[in-house]
Amino acid sequence: MTLRRLRLSGFKSFVDPADLVIERGLTGVVGPNGCGKSNLLEALRWTMGENSVKSLRGAGMDDVIFAGAETRPPRDFAEVAILAEDAAGDEVEIVRRIERGAGSAYRINGRDVRAKDVSLLFADAATGAHSPALVSQNRIGAVIAARPAERRAMLEDAAGISGLHIRRKDAEGKLRATETNLDRLGEMAQEQD
Ligand code: ATP
Repeated sequence: MTLRRLRLSGFKSFVDPADLVIERGLTGVVGPNGCGKSNLLEALRWTMGENSVKSLRGAGMDDVIFAGAETRPPRDFAEVAILAEDAAGDEVEIVRRIERGAGSAYRINGRDVRAKDVSLLFADAATGAHSPALVSQNRIGAVIAARPAERRAMLEDAAGISGLHIRRKDAEGKLRATETNLDRLGEMAQEQD
């Protein structure tokens, strides 16, 4: 998957709609301290499904919404769109929106989807909120200090197979539910005999 654009509105310091075009090759974002460079990377991770408020440097998820400034009132929602190209070269748009006090919603190509669908999309493309391709501040130290199981998870993310674990967990859950239903059916059949 190739990222092409990032559109932000009301996300952290990006109170006005902003559009970051990611050209082929290397894109650099430069600016003075505190101008919002890290917020851009966080917007990317957040849209990919990041739900750890700590790693988004907040106390609650609503902290990603513009909190107001001396001359600007706070916003009630934040929305970020990632425009990407999939392996087949088709455009895909992933949107995450959060309303103050009401939580997040996701869309892929205009269709409402679950957070899990977004995670799976990025996991299959060997990227995502926890992908080793996204290196935020302090992350290098965290990689060095990681336990073997955590390092294995990073390698699985990089290999694009972490989506299989999510699907396996789902399938195991369904299997357990079916077994419970079968047991119940067996009991009912016995009661009828
Ligand atoms: P540095 O170079 O120091 O790492 P940076 O360019 O990466 O800085 P960020 O850390 O991305 O900057 O941005 C920090 C700015 O974002 C701060 O000015 C902070 O007040 C602002 N900010 C963060 N969350 C919000 C919010 N919810 N509402 C308004 N502004 C916010």
